[in-house]
Amino acid sequence: MQRNKKVKYRSDRKRKGKKVALSLAVVGIILAALVAWVGWHDWDVRKSMTKLGEAIGLDDQRAGETKREDEQPEDDLHEAGGLEEGQPPEEDNDVVKDSGGYIEGMELPEEPTYVDGILIANKEYPLPSTYAPGEDPEARKAFDEMAAEATLSNFNLTAFSTYRSFDYQKELYDRYVARDGKEAADRYSARPGYSEHQTGLAFDIGEVNYEQHWASSDFGETEAGKWIAANAHRFGFIMRYPLGKEEVTGYMHESWHFRYVGTEIAKEIFEKNITLEEYVGLK
Ligand SMILES: [Zn+2]
Repeated sequence: MQRNKKVKYRSDRKRKGKKVALSLAVVGIILAALVAWVGWHDWDVRKSMTKLGEAIGLDDQRAGETKREDEQPEDDLHEAGGLEEGQPPEEDNDVVKDSGGYIEGMELPEEPTYVDGILIANKEYPLPSTYAPGEDPEARKAFDEMAAEATLSNFNLTAFSTYRSFDYQKELYDRYVARDGKEAADRYSARPGYSEHQTGLAFDIGEVNYEQHWASSDFGETEAGKWIAANAHRFGFIMRYPLGKEEVTGYMHESWHFRYVGTEIAKEIFEKNITLEEYVGLK
């Protein structure tokens, strides 16, 4: 009995010694790995920790955010700094917006704003009052093709409002303000210079003989409205003011307002379920 006990005691001690040695070795390896890891990341501890988080899949959200930040300058689709005109900085803390969502004290620019070759017209990037291109022929052609295909599904589409000149938009807006007051008018009508219709690329679409749904939220619930929402991108149009993107676009959802951007861009915007502002990197 006693002998057995002694043997057991001995082997316990031996095992304990082995354990300590093993632990020390593990700690040593971890330390060496950490030093190597930090060294590998240019001796930048913060960067190393972020990369470590990414590597072991921890804190996915933070890792993802860091990744996006890292990737932004390399994103050749939406190159940063693509603004061609000296326009107000987006989301600058100094920017004060009024109840209509417009930047206070802002004046209309001398030139329109293009980002990566795409014309932008919104509440932050208005158009010059002199900008008057008329309805875009390429957009019209694309609309006609879409309308032709829609007839195969028995929808008779029409574009009830396309190009609007600065003067016409002013007339419209002033009339609405006189009727409903400025605050109310701002909710459904763009101020002159801020309407995308002035680009000649915006098409308000409805169904012939169903005027009751024109420029009405229930157009999106009609079969024709659903068909356009699902197919417009194939013809180069995007739903410009989607539901749930009011903060990004500055406008309430408009199921009837489509913007021509060409098939390639429209397809990408449709598939990624994003807005034009997000596509060009303004938001
Ligand atoms: Zn419209």
